[in-house]
Amino acid sequence: MNSANDHPIIVLGAGMSGLAAASLLSQSGCSPLVLDKARGVGGRMSRRRTEWGPIDHGASFFQARHPLFQKQVDAWLQQGLVFSWSRGFSDESGHRRESGVPCYACSEGMNAVLKDLARGLAIHTRQKVQRVCVVQDQWQLETEGGETYRTDALLMTAPVPQSLELLNQGKVSLDDSHRSALASIDYEPCLALMVVTSQKSPLPEDGGLWLSGEPLSWIADQSRKTGSENAISRLVLHAGPDFSRTHWDEDPEKVTEEILKAADPWLAGERLSVQYHRWRYKTPLKVFPEPCLKAHAKPALFLAGDGFQRSGVEGAYLSGRAAAQALLS
Ligand SMILES: Cc1cc2nc3c(=O)[nH]c(=O)nc-3n(C[C@H](O)[C@H](O)[C@H](O)COP(=O)(O)OP(=O)(O)OC[C@H]3O[C@@H](n4cnc5c(N)ncnc54)[C@H](O)[C@@H]3O)c2cc1C
Repeated sequence: MNSANDHPIIVLGAGMSGLAAASLLSQSGCSPLVLDKARGVGGRMSRRRTEWGPIDHGASFFQARHPLFQKQVDAWLQQGLVFSWSRGFSDESGHRRESGVPCYACSEGMNAVLKDLARGLAIHTRQKVQRVCVVQDQWQLETEGGETYRTDALLMTAPVPQSLELLNQGKVSLDDSHRSALASIDYEPCLALMVVTSQKSPLPEDGGLWLSGEPLSWIADQSRKTGSENAISRLVLHAGPDFSRTHWDEDPEKVTEEILKAADPWLAGERLSVQYHRWRYKTPLKVFPEPCLKAHAKPALFLAGDGFQRSGVEGAYLSGRAAAQALLS
């Protein structure tokens, strides 16, 4: 066995839930190893680089309703990582949709808060795990690149269908009621475009706009969100779930044209750059009834993420923390 790859705790996923868990575990004296298939931390809070600056192409903002998450957000506000972008956004008819709490964003991109949580943690990126199985009372994680990691305690924070698939690949037996509850957690997909235009978009001044939902649900201008003086607009366009499901497998060029057509009233000037991204798991349609799941006792296996607690980024944070607490106890 390669002892360098033998770790007391492994956290699979460097998104909000995985890093919230790993940072709490680390503060409590444990040394978790975090694995992620991507090039960096972020998950669904990642940003996409363009020649004209980055665009948050997953979550555009987050809210805080739970005191635990608010405390964390307050710390980020103090560090200047987070700012209150708006208290809500208008829809096409000019009606304000406000929920009474601020919509927070990060001036350096949404993954800035994850980089903060990741500070000091051992993180191996570009490690796509393709199978999780039990070998001699330990979890064994096998990656696409041929690496093998072993651990006594595993926390999986990928979207639930992805975690289930990895466990299925390793023929891991789960309690029937857990398996069926997990299998019923489905997510909305989202086709997204990142568009840079040469002129200021006719969006509301704060730079966010709710649309009818189909074919488009949301447009945000990164330039206005972060207060850039530049006249260029860096837009993210999110298609609605029905449009995204229907057009999922279609030719990206054709889908791009359809999304651009629907967004035309909000695009001004020349299109300098257009990028396409398919998010298979935007947000869960329903969540697991507990904030995390202990799915296996020995070796210990926990599952967490936004599939276990409502409200997107905040839910992912709270679920990750709950799983870390459960692991510690
Ligand atoms: C388009 C879009 C818009 C959104 N808008 C908002 C919003 O405005 N506000 C809000 O609060 N929420 C929003 N959300 C939801 C929010 O982004 C998520 O709820 C939250 O980021 C989930 O965090 P997580 O840690 O649970 O999962 P993730 O961020 O998905 O993290 C899981 C990690 O696991 C890794 N992983 C998966 N499989 C493997 C594997 N086999 N091997 C290794 N690593 C693996 C992934 O690379 C990923 O980094 C949005 C999401 C999307 C996609």
